[in-house]
Order: sequence, then C-alpha cells, then structure tokens
Amino acid sequence: MILAPQPAKFTPATDIAALPTIGVPVRPADFPRRLLRFRNDRWAETVGLDHLDEDRWIAHFGSFEPLEGSLEQPLALRYHGHQFRVYNPEIGDGRGFLFAQMRDGLGRLMDLGTKGSGQTPYSRFGDGRLTLKGGVREILATEMLEALGVPTSKTFSIIETGEELMRNDEPSPTRSCVLVRLSHSHIRIGSFQRAAAMEDTDLLRALTDYALTRLYGVEPGDDPAAQLLDLVVERTADLAASYMIAGFVHGVLNSDNINVTGESFDYGPWRFTPYWEPAFTAAYFDHQGLYAFGRQAEAIHWDVAQLAIALRQITETEPLVKALERFPDLYSNAVRRRFCWRLGIGFPGEERSGTLLETAVQGMTGDRVMIDRFFFDWRGGQLRNGEARDRYAGEAWADFRDAVDGLANEAATAHPYWDGTEPCSMHIEEVESLWSAIADRDDWSPLYQKVDRIRMMRAAHEGRSSDG
Ligand code: AMP
Ligand code: MG
Repeated sequence: MILAPQPAKFTPATDIAALPTIGVPVRPADFPRRLLRFRNDRWAETVGLDHLDEDRWIAHFGSFEPLEGSLEQPLALRYHGHQFRVYNPEIGDGRGFLFAQMRDGLGRLMDLGTKGSGQTPYSRFGDGRLTLKGGVREILATEMLEALGVPTSKTFSIIETGEELMRNDEPSPTRSCVLVRLSHSHIRIGSFQRAAAMEDTDLLRALTDYALTRLYGVEPGDDPAAQLLDLVVERTADLAASYMIAGFVHGVLNSDNINVTGESFDYGPWRFTPYWEPAFTAAYFDHQGLYAFGRQAEAIHWDVAQLAIALRQITETEPLVKALERFPDLYSNAVRRRFCWRLGIGFPGEERSGTLLETAVQGMTGDRVMIDRFFFDWRGGQLRNGEARDRYAGEAWADFRDAVDGLANEAATAHPYWDGTEPCSMHIEEVESLWSAIADRDDWSPLYQKVDRIRMMRAAHEGRSSDG
C-alpha cells in the first residue's frame, strides 16, 4: 500500500523534452529573503539530494539554480481544465513551474515542481506567489496523507521569501514562501484536454506515449489511448478510495488538478472531516458541495471521463467507455481493501469486508464517533481497553461488533503509537493553531513536533517498530 522510499544516487533526467510544446521556459522571481523552513530529507534521499548543505539547498530550491544534467531552465507547463465543471482554456502554471526531473531508487521518473516561484505567461491577474500559510498547510496535508496510505506528492522544501502578500482569504498582508514538491509527474488530465481543444492529435499521441512509457513503464500496445485510460481509471479509482478512508476532502477536484498517474497533489482549501459526513465540504467557495467528502469518487470519475473525451480524437469510443465503466467497481473494492488496511486486519474477502465497512459507517454516523477515533480504537480488529469497550457498547455498534468478531490481528498494534490514548488527527482547529504559533510568535516548534507525530503514525501503519 505504501511505497517504501529507496535511497538513490542523484540521476538527472530530461524526459519532458519528448513533449516540446508542453511548456515555456520561464525565470524564477528574485526574492528579498530566503529562509529555509522545511526540508524533506526522508524523500530527498530517494532521489539522491539529501547530501546538499543548506546553502546549496537554498541555491537550488530558493534561487532555482539548475540541478546538473536536468532541465537547464524551468518550464511553466501549459494546460486547460474544467474548473467546477466549467471549461477554462486560460490556465497553466501561473505560479509554478517544472524545475527538474530525475529517477528515483525504484527507477521511476520524478519531477520537482514549484508553487509560488513567480509570475509566468499564465498568471493572468495573479502575483505568482504562495502564502507561507499555504506552504505550511501543504506540509501538513502531504505528511498526513502519506501516513494514511494516500498516493500523494511530497512536500520537498519550503523556503520563506520575505514578501508581503495581499489575499482575501487570509489576514493581509501575509507572509510568502516558495514550495518545491516531489511528484510522480505533472501531466494532468487538463494537459490532454488542451491538446484536444487544439485538435493537436500529434500532441495527444505524444502525451499518451509519454504517460505509458515514462510514467507507467509499460510498452504501448495496439490501442495506446485505451490502454492508458484503463491504467488511469485503476489509479484514480484507488485514489478516490484512499481519500475516503483517510477522511480527506481535497476541495478542488478540477480536471487540471488530477495527475494522470493518480497521485494526489495541489493542496489548497483541503480539510479532514472529523465525522463520516458525506456532505462535508472543504472549500468555502464550493457552494453546491460539488467536491464534498461523499462526492469525491463521482467528481474524479467525471474528470477521467473528460480524459476519455480528449482521447476519442485518437481512438474509438467503445474501448474508452468500457474502461470508464470499470471505475465504480474498482472504487468500491479499493475502499474495502483500504478500510481493512487502516484497521490493521487481513482482507477477509469482498463480501465480509463490505459488511465491515457498511456497519462501521452505520456506527460512526449513528453514534457520532470520529473517523480517526474509530480506526485508532479498533486497530487490529479488537478493542484494547475498558474505556474503548464502553464507547462501542451501544446498539449502533452491534452489527460492527458481530462483523469484526474473529478478525483480531495482534501484530497490527506492535508499534508504541497504539499504546497512546489519542489518535493523530488533522482537523481545522489544529491546523489553525499550528499556523497561529508561526504567525503570532514565529514559533515553528509545534509544527515540527506535529510532523514528528504524523511520521510516528506512518511508521505505526507500516507495521514497523521504529520511525524511518
Ligand atoms: P489552483 O487552484 O492552485 O489549482 O490554481 C488554478 C489556476 O490559477 C492555475 O492556473 C494557477 O497557476 C493559477 N493561480 C492560482 N493562484 C495564483 C497566483 N497567486 N498567481 C498566479 N496564478 C495563480
Ligand atoms: Mg492547480
């Protein structure tokens, strides 16, 4: 479920050159200051960049001096996309760019992309910047999602840049930063939509070939477009399932925010829902609840259908429709498997896992037990203390108690994390309080302590006895 990082030697790549019209060369902004706030050595190790001293780190990820052998100049990537179901051909990297490519220890092609690195031809009226709060929120989202088994981009670096930004969703002026993310590609559904809108079938074919050979590592067969759609359906159905089991609401599931590798990225107004509430919405501007907690699978499926529409220009409709129709079943299977994974029990088959999930949701909604609390208390398929036993003694839990009976797995609670009394959560009040410590007192220690605690939970989910 979780891809274990493998240490690697730095192996630069320039595969994006196979798509010569996908981006335009741009220059990074010249920031007044560069203060390193976060570096992810755990993931830097997987691409051989953990050895950089602080000056070199800032030179590469704050001033964007090229990494030798990779891109000579950053590329602002072009794309279109449906935003809240409205087609927008005016977007593209407006405050970020592709900075570098490399291979990781597993041989995968990886990108380092930015957010807040300055204006580009796609900035429209935007300043090209990222608020420091936005950067801090991205650290929290990515660390938490990784710990909960969600395939996600990693926050690689956050450097505070000393500017004052004006925003209408934060008290302003507010502090600025530049983020670097490590991601398994930045090719979005919107990248294909742009090619389709221009009726550029050569570009559609090149994108399809790039995705198959360089991202998925497979040989293109007779019908590469249908082959790709099949893979995207599999990965995105699993992505949607992973959000549900994490209790995560991405907030902006626009087609330009869906990576064709099915890796989650681009965290704006995200939230974790405390309770299993399908109508829980993250973005204050999502008035219709289009991207509410319980509608995320539908939203992602809709986005993937837009990929199918784009691919229709280079293949027949029938195999594409077939691929799309696989989504609902793949999704519900993935939800069940991921449910058992987070609970720390072996997979007891499709039917029984379905009953487990249904009865757990019945309990969580009937008795208002928080999602994280539920998974923490029932870790390993059995309650571990009297207090927990009291919490689940009621009628609302009768069916779940029956369903889980006999599935206990002692090994799942070996890590000391499970000996605590409180699950590690990431609800909005805590996010705000971690940010307040920085905003009010420039105190970063609560944030760093939280990251340590999240990493402890990750190790506990991976079943290892120490953090790594
Ligand atoms: P997002 O909601 O982050 O996915 O962004 C949607 C589009 O708006 C993308 O094309 C972004 O590059 C662009 N954008 C968002 N914020 C800014 C900003 N501050 N400056 C320039 N472009 C931005
Ligand atoms: Mg975006």
